[in-house]
Amino acid sequence: MHSVNLQDRAIPVGKIVCIGRNYAEHIKELGNKTSGQPVLFMKPANTMVAPGGTVVIPAYSKDCHHEIELAILIGKEAKEVSVEKALEHVVGYGVALDLTLRDVQNSQKEKGLPWEIAKAFDSSCPLSDFVPADQVADPQKLQLKLSVNGTVRQDGNTSDMILTIAELIAMVSSYFTLEAGDILLSGTPAGVGRICSGDQLEATIEQVGTLRVSVA
Ligand code: ZN
Repeated sequence: MHSVNLQDRAIPVGKIVCIGRNYAEHIKELGNKTSGQPVLFMKPANTMVAPGGTVVIPAYSKDCHHEIELAILIGKEAKEVSVEKALEHVVGYGVALDLTLRDVQNSQKEKGLPWEIAKAFDSSCPLSDFVPADQVADPQKLQLKLSVNGTVRQDGNTSDMILTIAELIAMVSSYFTLEAGDILLSGTPAGVGRICSGDQLEATIEQVGTLRVSVA
């Protein structure tokens, strides 16, 4: 069983649903259209890496990118929920890295093929411990900062999301039933870049915590 910690409780994780293209500046840096719909994809729970763990970049990629993201832990079932009621389904927030094999993703995009081999490889989802939702004053006003070997690469704010957390939950729950223990990744701000063997990654979201992992 794969689980995350919420205070002193271990929560078994179901599916991890990710949203792509939810920050305008990041859409521009990848050369994608800003007018398009956000993209949904999933990672299985066995892609998780615990705090302090190690990421292994698959041999079939030469361009693995970091993406810091606010992770949202679902506490009770959500199916076709309204935006107004969406946040009632959130039990905690955490720090995630949506590791992405950009070269593989680009070639899948060109061929019109799904992204799993670029997004859902083993160790593609480092996750911090979670803090209870009621300890985060306003999840749409949190600074996110990712540094590699002490150099800041990403520095953004959840206020710049295109779809808010509530809108994201409502949208995802119109396609997939969300269950307790499911996690949503809410997209990444600009500044994504390559990570290499030996790198030390530190991802911090204010009021939520810090996640450190190393690259094998
Ligand atoms: Zn992402």
